[in-house]
Amino acid sequence: MTTIGLILCRIGLHRWGRKRGYDEYSSNVIEWEQRCERCGKRKRWVEVKRDRRR
Ligand SMILES: [Zn+2]
Repeated sequence: MTTIGLILCRIGLHRWGRKRGYDEYSSNVIEWEQRCERCGKRKRWVEVKRDRRR
């Protein structure tokens, strides 16, 4: 782990890795999770799915 990396993390510029989605069919949102490869911080957010009504 480099010092510059730690500084970047400290000011909020994380190095986000792959994003993972939890898509439950019964739910109308997708839960996303992403993890920083340097400090391990996680962020989660939800995304509303497109309207499926036909
Ligand atoms: Zn970080």
